[in-house]
Amino acid sequence: EGTVIFDNVHFAYDANRPILKGVSFEVPAGKTVAIVGPSGAGKSTISRLLFRFYDVQGGSVKIDGQDVRDVTQSSLRSAIGMVPQDTVLFNDTISYNIRYGRVDASEADVQRAAELAQIGSFIERLPEGYKTMVGERGLKLSGGEKQRVAIARTILKAPPILMLDEATSALDTQTEQEIQSALDLVSQGRTTLVIAHRLSTVISADEIIVLQDGQIAERGRHVDLLDAG
Ligand code: ADP
Ligand code: ADP
Repeated sequence: EGTVIFDNVHFAYDANRPILKGVSFEVPAGKTVAIVGPSGAGKSTISRLLFRFYDVQGGSVKIDGQDVRDVTQSSLRSAIGMVPQDTVLFNDTISYNIRYGRVDASEADVQRAAELAQIGSFIERLPEGYKTMVGERGLKLSGGEKQRVAIARTILKAPPILMLDEATSALDTQTEQEIQSALDLVSQGRTTLVIAHRLSTVISADEIIVLQDGQIAERGRHVDLLDAG
């Protein structure tokens, strides 16, 4: 369950400037595919097409054989979990932010997800910029901590498909390792599409796709791409 197929996908934001020019790949259920390539290559566009923020203009995007154009927005949202590059938090506790999308989850499940993402110690706090009625001030979270809130949310939601947008910002080594291990945990056994900015972080991806100028320039496992130079 959760196979994603892009079949000969064509897309342009402006008719006279094609962004994706016949892109085909498959993410088999439970596997991890990473998309790499220079800025502007069309990587984020691929994630927007999967979520149907835009529709393809040629070819198709399918989940388990079904065209995403035939799936309701609400079932798309429950099938796909997103860990974005920059997480925007709501004006409520971290705990509530984790619960978003799974309002029925128990306190114990929220706590467990938070602990797996290594933010268990401060989930009753508010994010920075917000205040409680009694004037308690919000907690300043680093970019890595915010990303871990999104990871905890995804652990709780447990969607079959995971869309990860790796941080472009330079995180310190320890934060990067902590995020990497939390991501490994959440992507385990799930269909995972990673927008990667560093080849070094996707060493164990089942396939790496190098996107250049809207087309797949190279594809293979990490070792194959290194061999190819
Ligand atoms: P599989 O078991 O199908 O190979 P995994 O869940 O083990 O898939 O993930 C493969 C690799 O992809 C992981 O080891 C991890 O390093 C990498 N990965 C997953 N998410 C990210 C991410 N957001 N950024 C960078 N690398 C990631
Ligand atoms: P990447 O994620 O690889 O950096 P994107 O998919 O974000 O690339 O963008 C691919 C190209 O499409 C870029 O040249 C970008 O400027 C352009 N683009 C992205 N979003 C829009 C938009 N909403 N309208 C017009 N052009 C866009």
